[in-house]
Amino acid sequence: MDDVAISELLASRGFEGESAERALAGLYRDGLTRPGKKRIAKAKIEAVDRALGAAFVRHCPDPVCRPPPGEEREPILVNAEHCESCRGSDNRRAVERMLAAMRRAGRSKLLVAGGSPTSRVELERLCAGRLGLRFVTEDTTPNRRTVTPLLDWADIAVIWTSTQISHKSTALLRGPKVVKAPRRGIAALADAVKDRCALTV
Ligand SMILES: [Zn+2]
Repeated sequence: MDDVAISELLASRGFEGESAERALAGLYRDGLTRPGKKRIAKAKIEAVDRALGAAFVRHCPDPVCRPPPGEEREPILVNAEHCESCRGSDNRRAVERMLAAMRRAGRSKLLVAGGSPTSRVELERLCAGRLGLRFVTEDTTPNRRTVTPLLDWADIAVIWTSTQISHKSTALLRGPKVVKAPRRGIAALADAVKDRCALTV
């Protein structure tokens, strides 16, 4: 039968050393393996992942990834690549920091001007419905009728510089809500918004 070493399976999920022992105790409790067994059938891997996911919350050392108060699963400190919150991604961590800063500042609606279609999709995915997010894109008609209502709606408007966006559109985005992201990339955008929130608290 196809099987794998239990210790390797656990390490590949971020459980090493003392946290591997805690994971193992959980697997004993769930009857997925028993003391003394070194290997486990590959057919059981799915059930193991389910059991680990239900019992433990894996987080990296970054404060933004710490489990929220009220989290019932047991916290396990892991390397960033295994972190449930950021999965080792700088973009994801930056977006989490931005979301936290916006929450603290009571801001929930973000207008983003510019960015590539791919980066916009990625930003939406990382925000995952936790933020009102609208865009001024290369397809937005650059006039007051279309852009000004978007700016009125937003708590913060961020211009993603050095991306494809008509100058006419960005010229309409003025005022205290508007912030510029100085560089490309989701982390740069998220940091610019976070810094603005920190100033307004
Ligand atoms: Zn993390």
